[in-house]
Amino acid sequence: MTYDANCPFCRIAKGESPAEVVLDREDLLAFQDVNPQAPTHVLVIPREHIPSLEALTEQHGELLRNLVRAINDVASQQGVAGGFRVVTNIGPAAGQSVRHLHLHVLGGRPMRWPPG
Ligand code: AMP
Ligand code: ZN
Repeated sequence: MTYDANCPFCRIAKGESPAEVVLDREDLLAFQDVNPQAPTHVLVIPREHIPSLEALTEQHGELLRNLVRAINDVASQQGVAGGFRVVTNIGPAAGQSVRHLHLHVLGGRPMRWPPG
């Protein structure tokens, strides 16, 4: 599995950095965002170092299915099923600050549109 020693989310996935984990599966992990933007703000990441959604290929079909299932499981577990937002930023122009694919699961307050 691809691992980048300089990547903060690889370090969390390896257990080398602390995180408040809410879901722990073979190929993915979900943990609380350190700087929450809503009452529920959880990040769902693959354990493998994939830089962003743009880097996903046909070969990631099973991982993608599992990520979607995990997002829905996190929403249920956090009590926001039926009313939450999923965001993933791709590249600096979109505000991606950690170059390891992560899906923000946000909920627990009214969400505005369009996002900034
Ligand atoms: P993005 O700007 O889309 O790349 O999102 C990165 C997110 O990761 C931000 O919401 C940060 O608050 C969050 N974050 C950065 N480092 C950590 C960490 N060590 N543990 C939990 N969340 C983090
Ligand atoms: Zn990584």
